[in-house]
Amino acid sequence: WDMFVLAFVERLFRPTFKKDDFVLGKKLGEGAFGVVYKVSLAKKNSGKEGDLVLKKATEYGAVEIWMNERVRRACANSCADFVYGFLESSSKKGAEYWLIWRFEGESTLADLIQSKEFPYNVESMILGEGQDLPKGLERENKIIQTILRQLLFALDGLHSTGIVHRDIKPQNIIFSEGSRTFKIIDLGAATDLRVGINYIPKEFLLDPRYAAPEQYIMSTQTPSAPSAPVAAALSPVLWQLNLPDRFDIYSTGLILLQMAFPSFRSDSGLIQFNRQLKRCDYDLNAWRKSVGPRANADLRRGFELLDLDGGIGWELLTSMVRYKARQRTSAKAALAHPYFDKEGLLALSIMQ
Ligand code: ADP
Ligand code: MG
Repeated sequence: WDMFVLAFVERLFRPTFKKDDFVLGKKLGEGAFGVVYKVSLAKKNSGKEGDLVLKKATEYGAVEIWMNERVRRACANSCADFVYGFLESSSKKGAEYWLIWRFEGESTLADLIQSKEFPYNVESMILGEGQDLPKGLERENKIIQTILRQLLFALDGLHSTGIVHRDIKPQNIIFSEGSRTFKIIDLGAATDLRVGINYIPKEFLLDPRYAAPEQYIMSTQTPSAPSAPVAAALSPVLWQLNLPDRFDIYSTGLILLQMAFPSFRSDSGLIQFNRQLKRCDYDLNAWRKSVGPRANADLRRGFELLDLDGGIGWELLTSMVRYKARQRTSAKAALAHPYFDKEGLLALSIMQ
């Protein structure tokens, strides 16, 4: 009851919006299920709200609103700050769901890793001005550690809430200029196993570049969504049986790989890596052996970075990118991995 009253009161005092309140700005993205714009509020309302983001979504928008509401209550810092969602039925194209977030910043991790400066371009964003430490592998490793730690922290929040994101990739990680941390966006493919929302995986939503090899996140023995109360009772059991969160861990491992190896940052580079790894039966150590003799300078440098401090970076990577979900580490366990332990001067100063 307390939760119910709190949610009700919170909703009562939150701003509500309608179509005409928004002035459309630049288009930020367009997918099969919606279009995303930067927007500002029409004059009468403007002022304290600042820039916002609007997603006009198809029927899947209903689930995305539900996920964002849940995240805001359970693990607000994991994701972009959700403001409001509503059904907009006066549009010519028929009913659309409109979702509003605070505009977190200009860059996704995808934009940032595409820069030749990466990871130094991120260091200045996290640290601010005035740091002038020597460049080199150790320093790059520290920056990558910090990004990965923030990402795992956000992911642990989602997973502890019972939400599996299913579309973790650099394009869906935004740098929040306000909090100077990376946050997760785009809950359009997410599933909440605790209450059975969006329970049946929609395979066609998954991005093949970052998807783990398992086709279904839940075992095919549980093909249909049980009713909400049944799902709520069953889900901790199903979670333990299937470890659906490990799907996101695989994708996160591929992001670590891309941060360490510049050659895998492009689409074609990542697709090529995926093909090679599949040929090695998803065994990273076998893949490393197979490329060993013909590794170019770029690859060698990536291995060198992950081999620092006795190879703990490589160890973490191999515990995330594994064929069997059951053998992959969890977000919480990964945060306790010794890869994040090293406390150099820089590590201390860039702790969030
Ligand atoms: P899509 O379904 O099109 O992938 P996303 O939710 O991923 O929709 O948003 C598309 C793009 O819009 C993102 O890649 C990002 O560049 C931008 N974006 C989304 N949400 C925000 C936000 N809260 N702040 C700033 N930019 C955002
Ligand atoms: Mg997206």
